[in-house]
Amino acid sequence: MISYKQLGFVNTREMFQKAFKGGYAIPAYNFNNMEQIQAIVVACVETQSPVILQVSSGARKYANQILLQYMGQGAVEMMKAYAKEKGLGPVPMALHLDHGDTFELAKSCIESGFSSVMIDGSHHPFEKNIELTRQVVEFAHKHDVTVEGELGVLAGIEDEVSAEHSTYTDPKDVVKFVKETNVDSLAISIGTSHGANKFKPAQCTRNADGILIPPPLRFDILKEIEQQIPGFPIVLHGASSVPVEAVKIINENGGALKDSVGIPEEQLRQAAKSAVCKVNIDSDGRLWMTAAIRKTFKEKPAEFDPRKYLGPARDALVLMYKHKNEAVLGSAGKA
Ligand SMILES: [Zn+2]
Repeated sequence: MISYKQLGFVNTREMFQKAFKGGYAIPAYNFNNMEQIQAIVVACVETQSPVILQVSSGARKYANQILLQYMGQGAVEMMKAYAKEKGLGPVPMALHLDHGDTFELAKSCIESGFSSVMIDGSHHPFEKNIELTRQVVEFAHKHDVTVEGELGVLAGIEDEVSAEHSTYTDPKDVVKFVKETNVDSLAISIGTSHGANKFKPAQCTRNADGILIPPPLRFDILKEIEQQIPGFPIVLHGASSVPVEAVKIINENGGALKDSVGIPEEQLRQAAKSAVCKVNIDSDGRLWMTAAIRKTFKEKPAEFDPRKYLGPARDALVLMYKHKNEAVLGSAGKA
């Protein structure tokens, strides 16, 4: 058993308390490779933002779970050294399992140094979701690890998680769920969705430039949930904005993304000021990396050193993470 405390991680309890009081949200960025983790560290140190490093089961398969665990550990050490070099303070970092689906998986992450886990029982019937979540919480709390549960179903595709239609979280369910599971935070469904094609064109309107405008998030449901469980930390998944600039660069350089649409940043900014304490962003990073790589390939077709195209991809990620921390989530300066 490796405790996250030996590795220099923190759980999400104090992060969320401060975020709640301060009216901002903690960024949760997924990583699968070195360039992503370097960019997260650089951006969060430079903006002095607390951060949650997320590992999905897809990432565990792609990058190897043991390597990911050491990459997380490496991120803490890099963060300390980089902060010192820049004359800045260290930033709180959590290592989080994204969309854990079994007790065994959550347990194995907790035993290998994760400070926070999500147990996603949202595809189970309500009572079964409660039972599974409670089982994970009981084990996690023995090790001072925080747990995120989920109620409601998000549409879209993200690694192993996919659903055709979304089901909004029913505010009537949240009190019972939180009370009986003793969970530390709750992911809800209010109109965000996984992936880069969050809505079908038929669900959207188009602005004067032909850009798809998605239906607004259901802030009315969020408000009802907040009234049911005052002061309780809420999590938004599928909260990428799918920037038109990134999609444009991809498509101008040989890509073929169609009808990509995300959550407008103004709405995320509004959510971050409420009980939403954690916002998951993955697709936007994928898009900016792809944009930078495609552009390099088109402009420098003779280039074959991976550092020459992964480097610009990493630079693009740093800019995006800084922008999210400073201008969208409000987490900059809150380390
Ligand atoms: Zn998710």
